[in-house]
Amino acid sequence: MRAMILDVAKRPLRSADVPVPEPGPEEALIRVHACAVCRTDLHIVDGELTEPKLPLIPGHQIVGTVVALGSRVIRFQAGERVGIPWLGYTCSACRFCRTGRENLCDEARFTGYQLDGGFAEYTIAHENFCFSIPTEFSDLQAAPLLCAGLIGYRSLGMAGDAEKLGIYGFGAAAHIVTQVARYQGRRVFAFIRPGDREAERFALEMGVVWVGPSGDSPPEELDAAIIFAPVGELVPAALRAVGKGGTVVCGGIHMSDIPAFPYEILWGERTIRSVTNLTRRDGEEFLALASRVPVRIEAVPYPLLSANEALDDLRSGRLRGAAVLMVAA
Ligand SMILES: [Zn+2]
Ligand SMILES: [Zn+2]
Repeated sequence: MRAMILDVAKRPLRSADVPVPEPGPEEALIRVHACAVCRTDLHIVDGELTEPKLPLIPGHQIVGTVVALGSRVIRFQAGERVGIPWLGYTCSACRFCRTGRENLCDEARFTGYQLDGGFAEYTIAHENFCFSIPTEFSDLQAAPLLCAGLIGYRSLGMAGDAEKLGIYGFGAAAHIVTQVARYQGRRVFAFIRPGDREAERFALEMGVVWVGPSGDSPPEELDAAIIFAPVGELVPAALRAVGKGGTVVCGGIHMSDIPAFPYEILWGERTIRSVTNLTRRDGEEFLALASRVPVRIEAVPYPLLSANEALDDLRSGRLRGAAVLMVAA
């Protein structure tokens, strides 16, 4: 099969022909239709996440068809369309797994990081870590739901019942969260890089009530803010934008250092927290909710062999919505 391979961090992915993987007893072999590109893929390729298996096939927002099954698989049949997210395996025995927090599992393994992912024509996944995909979403639309959508959904949950919600960084996750938040009756305030006209237009089209540069004060005090941009300076900025009792949620897996800030902007029982990975329950809840909204995905398709170009476009902020590698129909 054709695959895009990371040999070592800070180098472009290499296109290669490699053997089609063989599923273990509880795994499915999946023919990849589409795999969305996530900022986490960028952090892995750029060496900011330092523990990938190497060589690695990245990609953790995979939509494809089951084509072969291990001997013990019972949840899926050949021909079914499935989605494969970042969470590729958990131990089900540690203190986190036993208390509904498998996203924090000590033994977790992640798709496109410790397990080969979807920048390839085929991949394998444990049957218990695949989702059914609602039929109304095309492959192109469904792929970004699997991380941008899911992590956005978990971040939104951490924002509690905030009615006035700030979002810092208006990319793939933000455009999905905005639609879900509006459906839930919230008002969204978008913060973008100063001068980014395209992001401003995009946020307004998604129905935010206000958009401004990330250093600006919003017109009203916010109840919560979610930071998707990997920029530590945004944490004190967001703390200044939320009112007493407000929460600042850091939605990314990696962020530059957070600068020192005066205690008074945390005072008033403001909270800062991170969001780490996802649970399978998040996935099932979110995919059902995405159908009800219904979420409309802005996606830019790329051929598999243009994975490096898609990563470059994400790095430079040129994208509107999500980048998706289209592998097979
Ligand atoms: Zn565990
Ligand atoms: Zn991701």
